[in-house]
Amino acid sequence: MKGLYVHIPFCEHICFYCDFAKRVPKDQHMIDEYLNHLISEINLYESHFDSIETIYIGGGTPSMLNTIQTEKLLKHLSLIKPSEYTIEVNPESYTKEKGMLYKKFGINRISLGVQTFNQKILNALNRKHTNQQVDETVSHLREIGIHNINLDLIYALPKQNIADLEFDLEYIHKLNPTHVSAYSLILEEKTVFYHEYLKGNFKIMDEDLEAQMYQKIIQCLTNDGYEHYEISNFCKPGYQSKHNLIYWSMGEYIGVGVGAHGLIDGYRTQNHRVLSDYNIQPQLEKTLQTLEMNLQDELIFGLRKIQGIDILELEHKYDFKLLNRYPKLIEKIDQGLVSYQDGILKLTEKGIFLGNQVFMVFI
Ligand code: SF4
Repeated sequence: MKGLYVHIPFCEHICFYCDFAKRVPKDQHMIDEYLNHLISEINLYESHFDSIETIYIGGGTPSMLNTIQTEKLLKHLSLIKPSEYTIEVNPESYTKEKGMLYKKFGINRISLGVQTFNQKILNALNRKHTNQQVDETVSHLREIGIHNINLDLIYALPKQNIADLEFDLEYIHKLNPTHVSAYSLILEEKTVFYHEYLKGNFKIMDEDLEAQMYQKIIQCLTNDGYEHYEISNFCKPGYQSKHNLIYWSMGEYIGVGVGAHGLIDGYRTQNHRVLSDYNIQPQLEKTLQTLEMNLQDELIFGLRKIQGIDILELEHKYDFKLLNRYPKLIEKIDQGLVSYQDGILKLTEKGIFLGNQVFMVFI
């Protein structure tokens, strides 16, 4: 499997927690100019088009492209015939016209940036959409035959309590999407929240409460028939994200657009994060992925999958012995964070909450 990630770095407003490569565009010309550069970069990978299985258009906010810009990009990408084709949508910028274009060009999966259904908390994040817009987007997508919908949820948000999270989970239950991604809020540098934190105005959530929230999410979603298949991802049977599985299984993917990275032909690629730099020359660096790096990534990304890693297969592939190479792993097994049975290494229930302590063994 090979994937293509396409980055649209424009947003209508900047969320206070966000450290993605994004900016508010100066005008429509800035977006048009970017699309021209983006399409030129996509063309550089023409020899891979036939083998691309998944496309993921992310951002930023891809749904803020107007219909002409959307059509231009999708028309160009229609040279590729993926089996899974996702676009990220912000409920605030979705229109029926855009939905029809997505459908026309074969997009069959929508990732909806909801984050929470609590309007007060949404405002505190500087997100502007309403629950009504979410409801209308989901129902229109279903009406036009796009049923594979992911909802993005963030928890451990400022001033959020368990009751707020329960409200979000009830809303998800009602909407019944095929996939849910649930990430805890991470305080990243160069964000509004980080500046507030430095001024003493932002309080990081207590770790115990955050763990309780994560537990609640796992419990509610699994009770609702979702499979917990990756630390932060849940799906109805048959709806795992193929594109993300490429990342977690060390498959090849091409990354195009501002700030995008890729893993292709044995190299990790990284594009410029600043739009003006990208427009001159997209790629910032290209690094040969050594066997050592591959092994490390396979172990760390592989352990994010709840089913774990087939170590016998990996030992054969990289010609090494797990416990000889990583003796500190024995300590993590003894602490009950990771289990190693019948050749499968996987995080335990306790380890899922403390994955980073296990990943450190491989670094
Ligand atoms: S979270 Fe998404 S919508 Fe908000 S600023 Fe970041 S990229 Fe834009």
